[in-house]
Amino acid sequence: VKHSGKNNYLFFHPDMEKEIQKRSTIERELRASLQEKDFRIFYQPKIDTATNQIQGFEALIRWKYPPDVFIPIAEELGLINEIGAWVLEESIRQLKVWHEAGHQHLVLCINVSYYQLNNREFPELVKTCIHKGSIEPSLIELEITESMAMQNAEMTKGVFSRLNEIGVRIAIDDFGTGFSSLSYLQDFTFDTLKIDKSFIGKIGPCSKTNYIIQALITLSEALNVIVVAEGVETEEQLEFIKENGCDLWQGYLFSEPLPVDEANMLLEAENNR
Ligand code: C2E
Ligand code: CA
Ligand code: CA
Ligand code: CA
Repeated sequence: VKHSGKNNYLFFHPDMEKEIQKRSTIERELRASLQEKDFRIFYQPKIDTATNQIQGFEALIRWKYPPDVFIPIAEELGLINEIGAWVLEESIRQLKVWHEAGHQHLVLCINVSYYQLNNREFPELVKTCIHKGSIEPSLIELEITESMAMQNAEMTKGVFSRLNEIGVRIAIDDFGTGFSSLSYLQDFTFDTLKIDKSFIGKIGPCSKTNYIIQALITLSEALNVIVVAEGVETEEQLEFIKENGCDLWQGYLFSEPLPVDEANMLLEAENNR
C-alpha cells in the first residue's frame, strides 16, 4: 500500500503490476516499430446492398498487438499522429494501385483518432497525401467515432468543415454507442453514418434492437447521409438490414479484413463474375 496524499491510498494488486509491465513493454516495442514502420494494413471490403459489389475498403492497422490494445496507448504517448500519418499515406498509395489496375470506383475508408483531428496540421496532411496520390478526394472517407467527435464539438465542427472544403467524405463511426444528444447532428457536416456492430449483433426475432436500427436508418435518410451496417455476420442480419434500406455493409459474412493480395483475389473474382 502506498501513501499518496491525505486519505488517498493506491493499492497495487499483482494484476495491476502485470498490466503496468505489459504497457511498458508495448511502449518500448511501439517506439521501435515506429522507427522501422513495422506495421501492416489489412483491408475489409464494404458491400453495396443494391448491387452486391465491393464499393470500397476500410483500412485497418495490424501489428503484433490488436489495435484496440495499442491505439489507446499510442494516443496517450502522443505517437498516434505519426502512426496515423503512415496509415493515411500507405493506404492512399494502395488505393492508387487499385485505381490504376482498373478499379477506379473504389472508395477508401480510414480511421482517424481524436488526437489526429485535434492536430492543427491534420487537414493539410490529408490534402498533401491526396495530392501526392493524385486521388479524387471524394473517394476518401475519414471515420471518426461518435464519442470522439463529441469530446469537443466546437473543434470537431471546425475540422469537419475544413475537411469538407478539401472534398473528403466524413463518416461517424460506432454510431449509437456515444450516448450523445442527437441535436449536434444538425451542426456537423458529415456524409456517412456507421451503425455499430454491437447493434447488428443483436438483430433477431422480437429484439428491441431491430427498432433502434430501423430508427437509425430512418434518421440517416432524413439527414440525407449514407448508412452503413458494420459487423454483419449472418444471413439473417444481412436480410434485415437490406429490407430496411441500409446502403452498405461490411462484416465477416462477406469477408474479414484482408492483406492486399487476398483483397486483390476478391476483386479479380468479382471482375470474372
Ligand atoms: P472499428 O473502426 O469500429 O473497426 C471495426 C472492427 O470490427 C475491426 O476490428 C474489424 O476487424 C472488426 N470486424 C469487422 N467485421 C466484423 C464482424 O463481422 N464481426 C466482428 N465481431 N468484428 C468485425 P480491428 O481491426 O481489431 O480494429 C479495432 C478498432 O481499432 C477499430 O474499430 C478502430 O477503432 C481502431 N483502428 C483500427 N485501425 C486503425 C487505424 O489505422 N487508426 C486508428 N486511429 N484506429 C484504428
Ligand atoms: Ca472504423
Ligand atoms: Ca466501428
Ligand atoms: Ca469500434
